[in-house]
Amino acid sequence: MVKYNIIDHHYDVIVVGAGGAGLRATFGMVEKGLKTACITKVFPTRSHTVAAQGGVGAALGNMAEDKWEWHMYDTVKGSDWLGDQDAIEYMCREAIPAVRELEHYGVPFSRTEDGKIYQRPFGGHMRDYGEAPVQRACAAADRTGHAILHTLYQQSLKHKAEFFIEFFALDLITDGDSCYGVIALEMATGDIHRFQAHQVVLATGGYGRSYFSCTSAHTCTGDGNGMVARAGLPLQDMEFVQFHPTGIYGAGVLITEGARGEGGYLTNSEGERFMERYAPTAKDLASRDVVSRAMTMEIREGRGVGKNKDHIMLHLEHLGPEVLYERLPGITETAKIFAGVDATIEPIPVLPTVHYNMGGIPTNYFGEVLSPTKEDPDRVFPGLMAVGECASVSVHGANRLGTNSLLDIVVFGRAAALRCSEIIKSGEKLPKLPIDSEKFALSRLEKIRFANGKLRTSEIRSNLQVAMQNDAAVFRTSKSLEEGCEKILEVARSFKELSISDNSLIFNTDLIEALELDNLIACALTTIVGAEARQESRGAHAHEDFPDRDDDEWMKHTLAYVNEDWSVDLDYRPVHNFTLSQDVNYIEPKARVY
Ligand SMILES: Cc1cc2nc3c(=O)[nH]c(=O)nc-3n(C[C@H](O)[C@H](O)[C@H](O)COP(=O)(O)OP(=O)(O)OC[C@H]3O[C@@H](n4cnc5c(N)ncnc54)[C@H](O)[C@@H]3O)c2cc1C
Repeated sequence: MVKYNIIDHHYDVIVVGAGGAGLRATFGMVEKGLKTACITKVFPTRSHTVAAQGGVGAALGNMAEDKWEWHMYDTVKGSDWLGDQDAIEYMCREAIPAVRELEHYGVPFSRTEDGKIYQRPFGGHMRDYGEAPVQRACAAADRTGHAILHTLYQQSLKHKAEFFIEFFALDLITDGDSCYGVIALEMATGDIHRFQAHQVVLATGGYGRSYFSCTSAHTCTGDGNGMVARAGLPLQDMEFVQFHPTGIYGAGVLITEGARGEGGYLTNSEGERFMERYAPTAKDLASRDVVSRAMTMEIREGRGVGKNKDHIMLHLEHLGPEVLYERLPGITETAKIFAGVDATIEPIPVLPTVHYNMGGIPTNYFGEVLSPTKEDPDRVFPGLMAVGECASVSVHGANRLGTNSLLDIVVFGRAAALRCSEIIKSGEKLPKLPIDSEKFALSRLEKIRFANGKLRTSEIRSNLQVAMQNDAAVFRTSKSLEEGCEKILEVARSFKELSISDNSLIFNTDLIEALELDNLIACALTTIVGAEARQESRGAHAHEDFPDRDDDEWMKHTLAYVNEDWSVDLDYRPVHNFTLSQDVNYIEPKARVY
């Protein structure tokens, strides 16, 4: 093996990722007196959280009466009964103090006439247990994620958190029984850093980039999920991938659901507001899986718009320029740039686009990573936590409601900090590292760095993205999934044909992209294999050969383990069908009526 310069660091806690989840965890730890470092591959305020538009959900009741119990009900229903109800209760209850806390940290929320945080309606958020829409999404115009991320970064600086920016985490240090730290590559110098800590908190975001068309940043490559899979731990419910109904046709860039929250609506080629047929109560604000499927049905049945009848129109022009400029300035600009459309006078062409990963690293509601066994499906894997989009707590189950992810990242980022302050004594001696703790990470790095096959990273990645787009789509069939499994396994196996033309370690983007692709492959494989096995339709997983939800057989979390030869083993664990406190009862499954 080539000799690498290894630099050692010792902390109480290492957080990997500086999006909303990572930052909230980082300064929460520092606030509790824990020596904490945050490692991030991009500058913190470039994390994907910055792109979130519509809002963060909390039953503040600023616009009309609202209750966290209603929010909990909507979230359980939205999850199509795959969410863990203890975790959902925790999130919806904690939403109220968590958003107030954000306000006090300085997030510049939009305001009502009387100075309260402005809240807009969002899909699936209802009052009185599903009676009628309620305004629950706390918004900073249509740049809520930007406002939150910048505020959290400022708080981190105020708390003097330590950052390692443009450090790429390669692999965890584990001995199979617990986690001791993480190995990272300093992108500017090529130095290898070994970070040792009592807890490693993964906050690495989603893996939207395993698809061809998605709303997420190019950095959303499921690196934390990849590391966990390589450590022999399972990924949970990866088959549940959310399509957002309104990605701009052709570009994939997001038009927030807040646009429909403000009164926007969809039409087909006949000018019909078709959502009235599919979801008579919630209409254009039905949950995302419902709207995405309705749009796909319209297109399939020949009522798509345009020359190829392949998209749908989103109307905002009736709202008037004032509302658009005040409440939706970002998307008005986006529509101009990416669709060449003036949203104040004409509709925007849109199409369902991959947006969010419900699945991820299984955790409990403290953020602790699970390594389930048959006897103990909630067994904790010591030393490792995961928060944010990379985790599956599971509060989103089979389908996430809009605004519940910005909420998830602040609530569980905070929960991880609270948990660490309980279980770690600052400065306590760190456990002894396993022998050759850097070997696993470095031999993988070396294999990829010196790969001299015949396929470029971009070729393999594009094969992967196209296969996922075609075969793990809004609608899935036994045939498409079976073919998808074969194609993606083929892509995975072609990774050994990888060629890296530049072997240097100084800002080698070719190498970084290959390392990311390795992670994307693990995510894609577990997604398609989990989907192929799940013979039912639930939330975002719409299986045409099994159109009904089957609670007897399938109300359980999928666990997917990736083997060295890229084969995937599946197992399952029960959904938590109990609540945390006696304040609320378990919400019994109901048929899907919208
Ligand atoms: C366009 C868009 C709009 C959205 N709008 C909303 C909304 O209105 N409301 C809502 O609730 N949700 C929304 N979401 C979803 C929500 O924004 C995300 O799920 C959430 O912000 C994810 O936060 P995160 O902290 O988990 O990850 P991210 O913000 O993606 O951050 C990931 C971090 O991990 C770091 N990282 C990753 N891999 C490595 C590695 N190998 N080494 C070191 N660092 C690494 C990155 O540098 C980054 O700092 C939206 C998402 C998109 C894409």
